[in-house]
Amino acid sequence: MTDSHYRGRFAPSPTGPLHFGSLVAAVASYLEARSRGGTWLVRIEDLDPLRESPEATQRILASLDAHGLRSDEPVRFQSEHHAHYHTLIDQLLDQGLAYRCTCSRKQLREHDGRHPQHCREGHTRLGDQPFAVRFLLRDEQSEWHDQLLGPQMQQVRAELDDPVILRKEGFYAYQLAVVADDIDQGITHVVRGSDLLDMTAQQQQIYRALGANPPHWMHIPVVLNDAGQKLSKQNHAPALDDRIAEDNLKQALAALGQNQRLLAGASDIGTLLDRAAANWAPERIHLTAR
Ligand code: GLU
Repeated sequence: MTDSHYRGRFAPSPTGPLHFGSLVAAVASYLEARSRGGTWLVRIEDLDPLRESPEATQRILASLDAHGLRSDEPVRFQSEHHAHYHTLIDQLLDQGLAYRCTCSRKQLREHDGRHPQHCREGHTRLGDQPFAVRFLLRDEQSEWHDQLLGPQMQQVRAELDDPVILRKEGFYAYQLAVVADDIDQGITHVVRGSDLLDMTAQQQQIYRALGANPPHWMHIPVVLNDAGQKLSKQNHAPALDDRIAEDNLKQALAALGQNQRLLAGASDIGTLLDRAAANWAPERIHLTAR
């Protein structure tokens, strides 16, 4: 089925070079877009200069390129869109959909993890204390359909975890920027790791607060290491070796349960990806990890 309106994306945070787990997520989002005749974008979510580096960004882009995964439009960098996030935060504050919060972890612990009412109601005396801005979640039983995992039900527990959208250090936060950019870039389908599944209901509320309809979601199981932990930089997942890109891609396709027989004999990366897209069968992804 081709759908020229389909717009998907891969949106890594440059906290380190690509590892096998991130390659699997990139390949899944790429193949889903390609197999539907859609557009596939790369967006670098570089919001936190304390944890991220320009070198990591360059390595990620070089790795994607070496694996034949190229954005159909110029790569977007969140670090270039601060003014947009700022405007949206002001808008949410004006609409009473976000609030300034000076709570420390200790204060939250003393309130059973809840924000004191004066804070959620916007009566915090700011003085010259640093403050975060939080999105005001509504208690809600959210029901939605994941294109791989099926029907999802999530209870949003307002107050307990109102997401930070502007950090105390002054950095714009993931929860706002990811939604703002998906809206701005007209993303219709999000394919990403299931480690972000729990964020989805909150993000749906942010979409609606910004006046947009949420996209379709597909969460794929994250790749685990031998100890059963998610492959990640924190767990010292090794960087991909770009010199063996074809092998890496074949392994990623195997991790996604794709039929190896149909891929055999591809003479280069481009042909391999074309074949993988033509035979893409997301229902073959094993749902072991989640
Ligand atoms: N930047 C996020 C990450 O690297 C992913 C954003 C998303 O796909 O929603 O974990």
